[in-house]
Amino acid sequence: MTTTQTRAGDPELAARLRREIRGEVMFDPASRGRYSTDASIYQIEPIGVVVPRTEEDAIAAFRIALEAGVPVLPRGGGTSQCGQTVGAALVIDVSKHLNQVLDFDKDARTVTVQPGVVLDHLNAYLKPHGLWYPVDVSTSAQATIGGMTGNNSCGSRSIRYGNMVHNVRAVDAVLADGSSFRFGEVPEDASRVEGTAEYRALVGKILAIAAREAEEIEHRYPKVLRRVGGYNLDMMLGRAARLEARASALTNRGKPSTVSLRNLPSPNSGQASGADPVINMAHLLVGSEGTLAYSRRIELDLSPLPQHKTLGVCHFPGFYKAMEAPQHIVKLGPAAVELVDSTMIRLARDNPAFRSTVEKFIRGTPEAILLVEFAGDDREEQHARLRQLVELMGDLGFPGGVVEITDAALQRDVWEVRKAGLNIMMSMKGDGKPVSFIEDCAVPLEHLAEYTDRLTQVFHKHGTEGTWYAHASVGCLHVRPILDMRRDGAHKMRAIAEEAAELVRQYKGSYSGEHGDGLVRSEWIAPFFGPKLTAAFGEIKDLFDPKGLLNPGKIVRPSKQDDRALFRFKPGYTVKRLNTVLDWSDWQGFDKAVEMCNNNGHCRKFDAGTMCPSYRVTREEQHLTRGRANTLRLALSGQLGPDAFTSEAVYDALDLCVSCKGCKRECPTGVDMAKMKVEFLHHYKKRHGLTLKDRLIAYMPRYAPWASRAAPLTNMLSALFKGVLGFAPQRPLPKWRSDYFSLTPTLPPRRGEGDASSQGVAGARGGEVVLFVDTFNRYFEPENAHAALAVLEAAGYTVHLPQPKDSARPLCCGRTFLASGLVEEAKLEARRMLDTLLPYIERGIPVVGLEPSCVLGLRDEYLSMLPGAETAELDLNAYLFEEFLAREAGAGRLQLPLAPLPQKKALLHGHCHQKAFGELPAVEQILKLVPGLTVETIESSCCGMAGSFGYDASHYDVSMKMGELSLLPRVRASTAETLIVADGTSCRHQIRDGAAREAIHVARVLEAALKTR
Ligand SMILES: Cc1cc2nc3c(=O)[nH]c(=O)nc-3n(C[C@H](O)[C@H](O)[C@H](O)COP(=O)(O)OP(=O)(O)OC[C@H]3O[C@@H](n4cnc5c(N)ncnc54)[C@H](O)[C@@H]3O)c2cc1C
Ligand code: SF4
Ligand code: SF4
Repeated sequence: MTTTQTRAGDPELAARLRREIRGEVMFDPASRGRYSTDASIYQIEPIGVVVPRTEEDAIAAFRIALEAGVPVLPRGGGTSQCGQTVGAALVIDVSKHLNQVLDFDKDARTVTVQPGVVLDHLNAYLKPHGLWYPVDVSTSAQATIGGMTGNNSCGSRSIRYGNMVHNVRAVDAVLADGSSFRFGEVPEDASRVEGTAEYRALVGKILAIAAREAEEIEHRYPKVLRRVGGYNLDMMLGRAARLEARASALTNRGKPSTVSLRNLPSPNSGQASGADPVINMAHLLVGSEGTLAYSRRIELDLSPLPQHKTLGVCHFPGFYKAMEAPQHIVKLGPAAVELVDSTMIRLARDNPAFRSTVEKFIRGTPEAILLVEFAGDDREEQHARLRQLVELMGDLGFPGGVVEITDAALQRDVWEVRKAGLNIMMSMKGDGKPVSFIEDCAVPLEHLAEYTDRLTQVFHKHGTEGTWYAHASVGCLHVRPILDMRRDGAHKMRAIAEEAAELVRQYKGSYSGEHGDGLVRSEWIAPFFGPKLTAAFGEIKDLFDPKGLLNPGKIVRPSKQDDRALFRFKPGYTVKRLNTVLDWSDWQGFDKAVEMCNNNGHCRKFDAGTMCPSYRVTREEQHLTRGRANTLRLALSGQLGPDAFTSEAVYDALDLCVSCKGCKRECPTGVDMAKMKVEFLHHYKKRHGLTLKDRLIAYMPRYAPWASRAAPLTNMLSALFKGVLGFAPQRPLPKWRSDYFSLTPTLPPRRGEGDASSQGVAGARGGEVVLFVDTFNRYFEPENAHAALAVLEAAGYTVHLPQPKDSARPLCCGRTFLASGLVEEAKLEARRMLDTLLPYIERGIPVVGLEPSCVLGLRDEYLSMLPGAETAELDLNAYLFEEFLAREAGAGRLQLPLAPLPQKKALLHGHCHQKAFGELPAVEQILKLVPGLTVETIESSCCGMAGSFGYDASHYDVSMKMGELSLLPRVRASTAETLIVADGTSCRHQIRDGAAREAIHVARVLEAALKTR
């Protein structure tokens, strides 16, 4: 450890790697810091990081490090919860480039992949073939097959399909001495093993160790399906020993057993049931957490996708009763039985992303629910089993306790809520957090109720509590006691761990039932497996890795779980308290907001939603919300050197954040990076100053009136000088319009003239509204403002155009100042807005605006810039144009005479902030008011323009790539007759630049459809 610690950032090693491999070599402190954590409580600085471009690169890096005596740590998504992905080693991140499906045999139902393939991507590839890889971990959108293999991961449906170890067919692996073998099936007679002499010798030695320890294996390995601790030595047993073990398992009252399932031939092995099974050497590598070899390629067994599914949501008024039920429910043959407890239900109900789904499947306020899925090819059978479940619940004393779900879409939504369980729980603010260390113990089902009850009492004894959820079918429930790891957390963790271990031992369960050993649980291998097997694990490790350089300290020769020197919040961890320009009191400070990131990696996603567009393009940890939050945390806590908060390293991490607010909505713990970027830029620009380009962008609202009046000249000058100023030469800049929106504003009402009865109600009292015309629509696309005015008037509203008291220039929300880090200037704009708009609001007149980032800024950044009652009033009364109309329509107040348009289809792209605030459905709803118009919403992340982001020369490529992820190809594929609708100014520009199509604001669609026209 000492040797490697002193080599962190080793320049010689870095130089050699750069010379000999083509991938990225990152040895700088910020990159090392970003790879020093996973989803556990630990943090260890790696020596350096390599992101290999090819298989050969990865192996070369592996070999170079080992030759230099440097430990190696392969890494996928880095979502491990036990610290198995952190270490003082050369980290080899396989997730970026090594993500190819190499071979697929539909008939044999096998696939061979590189280790960086993400499970969801693999399943998307397999779906058209009616197949899937059924180890359905909750992190399916992040987890790589290499990482899943490393951890012996388990899914919700493990009772049907088993764990990774039951579904891996072979692994092509490289050992510490550089030798490369294909680990697969071998006959149990070692003399008949095929392959090189080295391979045969290795296999022979392992089989001999297993045979020698057969009795101890039989005695010590838990007889439950969920057992992922230690090495899978039980799988290396010969036939006689296995039959003995199986007999023993079957006498274990017929419960699902690790041994019985593990020793069945793999589904595709071609062996008839009962035939002499062979041993699969790959199964020793499964769950070895990178401590034995580097997995280069992995061959998997696939399963047919079940054609029909039904879901029963069983409601229980008491937790204990819910825990007694699974032992009966499993007899119905479900594919999954998953627990969700009342705390989780409450948290999901409080979460805007899940609320509406929860209301669809939960009746009242149960103490716990069990989600019971039946799946198979026979539709009737699944329905029949659901009926049996209803009967069973009646017999158990809960008649009417099942919500039956047969609709596939709703089933999917319910599973999404369940999958988000842990993340939902982690949204807790403050220093006390749910901590993972006993969160996946597994016990036989008949003890589940008693075990959970007694462990809950242990929590109470230590002044804490835990939320229970997950895999009731296999007795593996997740629970995380809430601990403060900066204070007495380590002490309590040890005490609770000891007592939990004793309970698990009493019930003959497994201490590590899903998430592996890593740093948090490896020390528990010895007490559970005993000295003989612990020594045997050491022997195995030495056979593969005699110098102990492969992910040291995991599984064998471990450190103590409560070694605080390895914690993320180590003794002495302090942060620099910033004099913040925004209000962070909701989080108890900026640093606490940053620390909300628990590294679960949920932001590493490519599917639905927005988060995180920059990562989707670059696939670099630095451009991930997690990478940014980590960089900020390391900088604030002095781990990146003095004054690191305003350093270039932090700037680089935040540079490609497009402030889309995707994370604000989609990050389970609510990390709001867009807001953090504003805070950061304020401090950064104070130290480093503004460029001319920054100033031109920031002060646009101030010079916009004269720039528009001199429009032909200003447009010519901007076109001439944009390149010199740092704007992308390929981009046409927005054109100033001399016919800008200049209708005479209404005289504002005076403060205090409000009607008390209508204060803060925003009910369009007397049909009045304020139309706030932002700088962009006013000076670049005035037709949008005119269209909104026309529509509102056609709907019978009296429209006020607000006039600021100083009358110097029109109102602006301050967005351009915020984007440039000039928060004090933005506050001045905000003050002007408030002073002007509050008199209307006090009279109950709502404020309606067109540009999503401007209007939603009034409801978001304003609360942090000028917290207080006035801003809260504005928050309640500021509406997007479409949101206001949708609300009026919902209340039956909207009278809008609309006629069909020549175009019959609208293709809608949502602005990121519309999506972040859940406002996109309002646009869809309003577009559908046009008779005969069908609406299709593009499943897109950020368009890539993001305000001024995409105009910047240094961002141009990334900006276009963001657009190309889905938006631009979809627009290009649409017919010329299709209306392209986008409410964001920058989105419309991106669509024009990237797809050569004109997109229009929803206000213009409605204006075009007005009957009176
Ligand atoms: C919110 C949340 C929910 C989770 N839910 C589940 C769940 O339902 N079921 C479950 O089982 N787990 C779950 N986990 C844990 C984790 O997501 C899984 O173990 C996942 O499979 C890890 O994949 P990864 O790509 O992130 O692997 P990593 O964390 O990157 O790596 C895991 C291990 O594999 C090793 N490894 C990676 N690549 C290689 C390689 N090429 N060669 C050798 N070794 C390699 C690493 O060194 C490490 O030891 C959850 C985690 C979180 C944060
Ligand atoms: S930013 Fe959010 S989603 Fe990403 S790792 Fe951190 S907590 Fe998870
Ligand atoms: S605001 Fe958008 S770009 Fe920035 S970190 Fe969050 S999701 Fe990523």
